[in-house]
Amino acid sequence: MLTDHELARYLELTDPAELQELYRKAYEVKLRHIGKKVSLRGLIEISNICRKNCYYCGIRSGNTSVRRYRIDAEDIIHSALWALEHHYGSIVLQSGEVVSEEFSSFIEKIVREIRTRSEGRLGITLCCGEQTPAVYERWRKAGAHRYLLRIETSDPLFYAKLHPADHNFEARKQCLRELRKLDYQVGSGVMSGLPGQTAEQLVHDLRFFQEFDLDMIGMGPYIPHCDTPLGKGIELTPEYRRKQLEIGLKMIACTRLLLEDVNIASTTALQALSDTGREQGLLAGANVIMPNVTDTSYRRGYQLYADKPALDENSEQSCSSLTEKILSIGEQILWDEYGDSRHYFKRKEL
Ligand code: SAH
Ligand code: SF4
Repeated sequence: MLTDHELARYLELTDPAELQELYRKAYEVKLRHIGKKVSLRGLIEISNICRKNCYYCGIRSGNTSVRRYRIDAEDIIHSALWALEHHYGSIVLQSGEVVSEEFSSFIEKIVREIRTRSEGRLGITLCCGEQTPAVYERWRKAGAHRYLLRIETSDPLFYAKLHPADHNFEARKQCLRELRKLDYQVGSGVMSGLPGQTAEQLVHDLRFFQEFDLDMIGMGPYIPHCDTPLGKGIELTPEYRRKQLEIGLKMIACTRLLLEDVNIASTTALQALSDTGREQGLLAGANVIMPNVTDTSYRRGYQLYADKPALDENSEQSCSSLTEKILSIGEQILWDEYGDSRHYFKRKEL
């Protein structure tokens, strides 16, 4: 039982030896509950069209220098089947937030089509923002079984500073409850290292994960984007990057220590800060990696933050270099498996 005080102390560690000890402890918990195993999800960034205007995000609607795209259904399905052929076992379809009947049925059809064409062998996670319960239900029935919706921060006042006034913290929380009711495996998470964020707020975030009894956690360090209100003028010095990576790893370790059997992603933001960021995430307690399988021609359009990695690297290249990197740290890849959250099944047994 970790106290808030202990968690805050972990999050404030700076001594390299103490940090290594924290990561080692978290990795041990991961070994105990999950083993030396990593699950892969092929990430498809299906559209950068977004109605929201989050102050931190590079594809916010207010950023007029972004060329907007939506990948055609056939091309999305093609990327999904590529992931299947390469034994990924699961995919994530991620996009900006669009609320319309046209978009809802677009996603519904794609999910159904992928289910059919993969003969149910691909796990499907959606990450398409806040939607009505009826839309979540349609997507669930079409065959999606996991949903990622980050709360971004669990502190309502801080949430209000990071978003325009019409972005509603309570509504976002309510979406997580609705997803739960529909029997999705529910994932959420926060950004760490945001300007003005305190260790106490991050401890509150960790408690939020616990109270919501989440199945999956997707978190990453904040990385500034120069065309956003929050990122303007922040210089990405080597020291800044080092610190952001460190807080990202500390949050992974604390989450593993606290929640034990959930799926935790070692996210792309870690990789953006260091070539070995994702491997470091695994060694600090994460067990999921989401290699980008989006057609390379679209990747430049989907830059949530600066220095997005693998912009020109095609999926074939990322797959082989990633496999090597994972094996080199002694972890095994769970090829051809959904890689479901163990916590979800335990929760259902109770
Ligand atoms: N529109 C959907 C999904 C795409 S955004 C949604 O917002 O839920 C996916 C995630 O990217 C967000 O949840 C946010 O946590 C993260 N993100 C956005 N801008 C970022 C930045 N500048 N640095 C790090 N992560 C960022
Ligand atoms: Fe849109 Fe998601 Fe970016 Fe917010 S974080 S602007 S909802 S894509």
